[in-house]
Amino acid sequence: MARLSLKAKKELALNLITALEQAYPDLEKTLNYRDAWELLVGGILGAQTTDEQVNRVTAILFIDYPTVYDFAAASLEQITEAIRTVGLYRNKAKFLYGSAKIIVEKYDGIVPQSREELLGLPGVGPKVASLVRGDYYQIPAIVVDTHCGRISQLLGLANKTDPHSIELELMKVLPQADWIRWGHFMVTHGREYCKARCRNCLACPLADLCQYPQRKTVQKRLITARQQNQENGCF
Ligand code: SF4
Repeated sequence: MARLSLKAKKELALNLITALEQAYPDLEKTLNYRDAWELLVGGILGAQTTDEQVNRVTAILFIDYPTVYDFAAASLEQITEAIRTVGLYRNKAKFLYGSAKIIVEKYDGIVPQSREELLGLPGVGPKVASLVRGDYYQIPAIVVDTHCGRISQLLGLANKTDPHSIELELMKVLPQADWIRWGHFMVTHGREYCKARCRNCLACPLADLCQYPQRKTVQKRLITARQQNQENGCF
């Protein structure tokens, strides 16, 4: 299937946003947090872990350590113990401990807003930096996690494979006003219809716009599935 021109991608993006608004009128954020530090903690803990599991852990963690100062004053062992039910907890504890120390000592306890400063914190990559900048500080940014990268490619808006390049591609085609919610749309859509191992293209509300079902091999399978009424078929 031929790649879309920039103009075609921009048009597609607008139509997709309309369809996503209709499909998910009550789009909700999936991490629980009260301030930028708690969102940063949730973002760091979220690597290779579900948001549900992060929320379960932070519900207790933020009671025991209510501010960034409490994290900075704790020992690494205490933080490690407090998050031990999360995957990769030893590394994540080092990241939280290191980030808290830097934020307290260098930024007077305030999570920085600039991408460069955020990327200078342990455990903070482009995804977490965009998450904090967009969701907390409301600075236009696109969070490209595995859902967002994979589905944006299938939809036809992105061709690159690494998250930062995909983010730059999306910035060229999505209206800036939609950057922040695009990542949330993709996470929700990935859960509802477009799972990594089972894309439910037959029921997907984006199927008429998405470029993936237009691939010849997929079209053949879709026609067969429709004829057989395999509504839960995977593509
Ligand atoms: S049509 Fe299929 S591939 Fe495209 S977004 Fe929907 S489920 Fe994913």
